Amino acid sequence: MTEKFDPQAALADTRHEFGEHGGVNLSIETSTTFTVMEAEMMPELFSGRAGPEGGCYLYGRHFNPTVYALGKQLAAIENTAAGYATASGMGAISAALMQVCDAGDHIVCGNTVYGGTFALLNSYLPAKARVTTTFVDITDHASVADAFTDQTKVLYIESIANPTLDVADIPKLAEIAHAKGAVLIVDNTFSPMLLTPANHGADIVVHSLTKFVNGASDIIAGAVCGSHEFIGSLMDLQLGSLMLLGSTMDAQMAFSISMRIPHLGLRITEHSRRALIFAERLRERGAPVVYPGLADHPQHALLASLVNESYGFGGVFGLDLGTVQRAEQFMETLQNEFGFGFMAVSLGYFDTLMSCSGETTSSELTEAERLEAGISPGYVRISIGYTGSLEQRWKQFETTLDRLGVTD
Ligand code: PLP
Repeated sequence: MTEKFDPQAALADTRHEFGEHGGVNLSIETSTTFTVMEAEMMPELFSGRAGPEGGCYLYGRHFNPTVYALGKQLAAIENTAAGYATASGMGAISAALMQVCDAGDHIVCGNTVYGGTFALLNSYLPAKARVTTTFVDITDHASVADAFTDQTKVLYIESIANPTLDVADIPKLAEIAHAKGAVLIVDNTFSPMLLTPANHGADIVVHSLTKFVNGASDIIAGAVCGSHEFIGSLMDLQLGSLMLLGSTMDAQMAFSISMRIPHLGLRITEHSRRALIFAERLRERGAPVVYPGLADHPQHALLASLVNESYGFGGVFGLDLGTVQRAEQFMETLQNEFGFGFMAVSLGYFDTLMSCSGETTSSELTEAERLEAGISPGYVRISIGYTGSLEQRWKQFETTLDRLGVTD
């Protein structure tokens, strides 16, 4: 099962949602409120005894049919029983964590995660909810196990970490979490299609759909995938973190994203193909490249053992240019002189996006925390796009490397 899973096939196996009038596309259900034929149905909906499984809807901040259809597509590719979409990746992460944790609980989290997630766990949750976190190097399994306390409810990791590209040993980390009675939540933003964390023991999978899944850098969105029970609990009228904190997705957004899911696999394959070729060529010239698809990456064998076939090793690689000045010069030349891509945070866009992590998406960490996590000042995270021809792009890149004298 684990080896043979193909998210593209799983997607095709889910029932295709037809439009209201038999249209080949899903309909956008914009209604914010829903009627019933018999008044006695209302309390059934409010109690959660009836719901979208039976085609019954209540209110737009609760389940919405279009968002629910997108949730099913996402659940299919993540091989979970259910899924639901949120207004942002942070909306998904905060809702999932708040749902599992109560005041006084504890989280163990990787020490290299997206800066917003770090700030949520390091600053916001302790202050607002008395939920505390211990950050650990998730490649050091003994330290991970040691970090658990009696109050630990969650082990939180990124499948491929932002921005260091450390690969999580999901089966091992699931084993540690489960032995301690905790759940494993995996942020799979960097590796949709190529990794299916639920197949390796993850209990809950979260996404920033803003990145690869969306693919056009035009929508902020997120998702939570997990059991029916867990997704249902997020909508509970008394204690549901999506229902009550309100970060559910809007139907128009859900429609737009659902139209991009069928070609997600093709896009990821091309992102990965180009990232690997760039990384190999960088390695050949002795440049300090980080890419888990390279055989010499410390977790390459692990990643190779976990990936679904044919989607490659992801579309992001890192290049350590030593200093912020060199990193900035490098990105400015590529953007302003060659139009190679953009100096911008985020990833998964069809064009290349480049950012100096320490100055941007990991700036929530202190300098000491960044160094501890392995994020050097001149580290540039590159989400490689697929516009232009590969050789045209490589020539632009190589010329810039030559100018900066980047070899080793
Ligand atoms: N998770 C990861 C790995 C990210 O890189 C990001 C954003 O960069 C997020 C979550 C947050 O997602 P969003 O910006 O959609 O809220």
